[in-house]
Amino acid sequence: MDADPDGVFRICVSDVDNFKMINSLYGDDVGDQVLTYLADYLSRRTLDGVCGRYSGDQFIVLVRETPMHNWSWVEDMIADIVANAPVPNLNIKLGFYNHIDTSLSITEICDRSLLAVKSVKHNYTSSYAVYGGGISQRHMMAQLYEARFMESIQKREFVLWYQPKMDPYRNKVVGAEALVRWKQADGTVLAPGEFLPVFEKDGLISRLDEYVFEEVCAFQRRWIEEGRTLLPVSVNLSRNSIYRKGVVDRYLDLAARYRVPVTSIPIEITESAAISSREIQPLANAFIQAGFELHMDDFGSGRSSLASLNVLHFRVAKIDKSLVDYIGDPQGDKVLKHTMALMDDLGLVILAEGVENETQRTFLMKNGCDEMQGYYYAKPLPEQDFIDWVADAFHQKV
Ligand code: C2E
Ligand code: MG
Ligand code: MG
Repeated sequence: MDADPDGVFRICVSDVDNFKMINSLYGDDVGDQVLTYLADYLSRRTLDGVCGRYSGDQFIVLVRETPMHNWSWVEDMIADIVANAPVPNLNIKLGFYNHIDTSLSITEICDRSLLAVKSVKHNYTSSYAVYGGGISQRHMMAQLYEARFMESIQKREFVLWYQPKMDPYRNKVVGAEALVRWKQADGTVLAPGEFLPVFEKDGLISRLDEYVFEEVCAFQRRWIEEGRTLLPVSVNLSRNSIYRKGVVDRYLDLAARYRVPVTSIPIEITESAAISSREIQPLANAFIQAGFELHMDDFGSGRSSLASLNVLHFRVAKIDKSLVDYIGDPQGDKVLKHTMALMDDLGLVILAEGVENETQRTFLMKNGCDEMQGYYYAKPLPEQDFIDWVADAFHQKV
């Protein structure tokens, strides 16, 4: 590429699905044969370019890009590779990245073709993908996340961070909210906003909710074992979980298995669209019957509604950060003041979310807010940091 700055290039990576299976089924020698076969095949096909091993069972080919009107030759080539391979049913996948942006680093260039190949891993209908073209980057990330979901559940790559909830009058921790993070193999941590929308769309989120619930059960069990006073730790329940049959029973079973009181794990619900559905009411009643506490999340954000207060028996209403952000604005102050008066009248515990500064805290305290959660006190913290924070900052006996 350096020698021809005006050239247009394409990169392709090959990847064998379940290569480990080949080693364990046929032995390492046959595994090696498959690798040499692929190396040989791809280098023979690479006329004007370079070909090499990328890592493990992945090979990478860089060629000068020739115009291509259809991709049927890729299907033909894959069929040919499979037909002549030393093992039957070789499951090979190819990922392409065309019109390489040569200002990118080699790693970034390779990543793009790897992203394409990963998007079709464990996919039985397609054996190749092209970065960008047709499939949008977003769509590809979604496929990548979905493909890795179950494995991540098994490997416990979804981790919980805990954000303290405070009683501002006594300056005391009164609970926490468990917030999920996705810890990648390379150590980077994805925030929920980056992956939850994908899992919301395909319904995997209800599996994740249950996983989070179980992790909190385990957390509470450890807390009991260590002889500390139990703090309620709430979990978020997505809309999908509301529609999933038997969610209350499964949560009850889990709590019983870990021998933790259900009152120690309040359920946060933003009913969003579910508010208009009939499912939410029986479900909310079933949770309450079973002894759970319900908290209305994001109150005032438009994802929760006043009408829901008529029919659902929440114990706590969490005022959304968007309302808290308006503190200081004359109209915003009024809205919040009257909202809190209404909640108080309804006998709800009022918790303000996203409290970031002293002005907000003072205003909220003056207007009868019971509890607060926000960066003013603490950001969501990894488990051990949370335990230390509770112990240190307030010298609470925990
Ligand atoms: P949420 O339930 O309303 O959680 C509060 C969010 O506000 C958290 O974002 C928290 O980090 C953030 N936050 C708290 N205090 C402050 C503050 O003072 N300033 C600012 N700027 N932000 C603050 P996070 O952790 O990114 O979670 C975002 C949303 O993702 C959550 O909103 C919740 O709806 C969803 N979520 C997180 N974990 C789960 C889960 O396990 N299951 C489900 N279904 N949803 C989850
Ligand atoms: Mg929440
Ligand atoms: Mg919230």
